[in-house]
Amino acid sequence: MVKTILITGGSRGIGRAAAIMAGQRGWSVGVNYAGNEAAAREAVQAVEKAGGKAIAIRGDVAVEADVIAMFDATEKAFGKLDGLVNNAGIVGPKQPFAEYSLERMKRIFDINVLGAYLCAREAARRMAKSRGGRGGSIVNLSSMASRLGSPGEYVDYAGSKGAIDTMTIGLARELAPDGIRVNAVRPGLIDTEIHASGGQPDRAARLGATTPMGRAGTAEEVAAAIMWLLGDDCNYLTASLLDVAGGR
Ligand code: NAP
Repeated sequence: MVKTILITGGSRGIGRAAAIMAGQRGWSVGVNYAGNEAAAREAVQAVEKAGGKAIAIRGDVAVEADVIAMFDATEKAFGKLDGLVNNAGIVGPKQPFAEYSLERMKRIFDINVLGAYLCAREAARRMAKSRGGRGGSIVNLSSMASRLGSPGEYVDYAGSKGAIDTMTIGLARELAPDGIRVNAVRPGLIDTEIHASGGQPDRAARLGATTPMGRAGTAEEVAAAIMWLLGDDCNYLTASLLDVAGGR
C-alpha cells in the first residue's frame, strides 16, 4: 500500500536514507529539516528519483507551532498520514559531566525529548482511528546510548534516548486500540555527520572498529529496519526496541 509519511530530520543521515527507501516503494514523504535547505532539496530530489513524492518542510521539532505546521504541510500535499519517523536528534560535544552547561542540557532535552514527544503527539492526533485517522506506525529513533549511558561523552544525550525508549513502550500500549503501532530503533555507531556535529568526525569509524562486527553501520542499514517497522509486514509488532548496532 502506498503510504504518506513524515520524517523529522529527513534531509540528512539516517532520515534521508529512510526517505529514499520510502521513495523506492512509491510512498510520499514530508522531509523535515532544521536549517540546511540545500541538503533538504537534494533529499527531495533523491526521493523523487527513487520513484516517490516528497516535499521539504523547514521546522524545529522543539517548537510546537513548527511541528503542527509540518504535519499540516505533509497532509495537505499527500493526504492522510500513515506514519511518522521521529528521527531528528542532536548530540553535544564530548565533555566531562561536571562541565555541562544548563544551555547544553536544555538544548539536548528540548530537541531530543520534547521535540520527539510533540511529534508523536501530533501523529497520534492525526492517525488515531477514534479521531478519524486510519491508524499507522510511529518509529522513534532511540540509540544504544540509552543502554550504555555514554560516560565521558554525553550522558545527557544518553538520558534523552532513555526517555524515547520509555515513551515508545507507553505510547505503544496506549495507542494500540487506535490502530497505531509504536516501536523504536536503537542504532549503534552509524556513519553520519552527527559525530562531526559533536566535534568527533572520526567517532563512528574509530569506535565502530571495536564492535563485534568490527565496523560502523551505514544509514541505509538503519533505514532498512525503520522501513520494516513502518510497513505492513510486522502488523503484530509494537512496543519493541530494535537494536541495529552490529552486536555492540
Ligand atoms: P544527522 O546526520 O546529524 O542528521 C540530523 C537531521 O536532523 C538533519 O536532517 C537535521 O536537519 C535534523 N535536525 C536537527 N535538529 C533538528 C530540529 N531541531 N528540528 C528538525 N530537524 C532537526 O543525524 P543522524 O546520525 O542521521 O541521526 C538521526 C537520529 O538517529 C538521531 O535521533 C540520532 O540521535 C539517532 N542516532 C544516530 C546514531 C549515529 O551513530 N549516527 C546512533 C544512534 C542514534 P538540518 O540538515 O537542517 O540540520
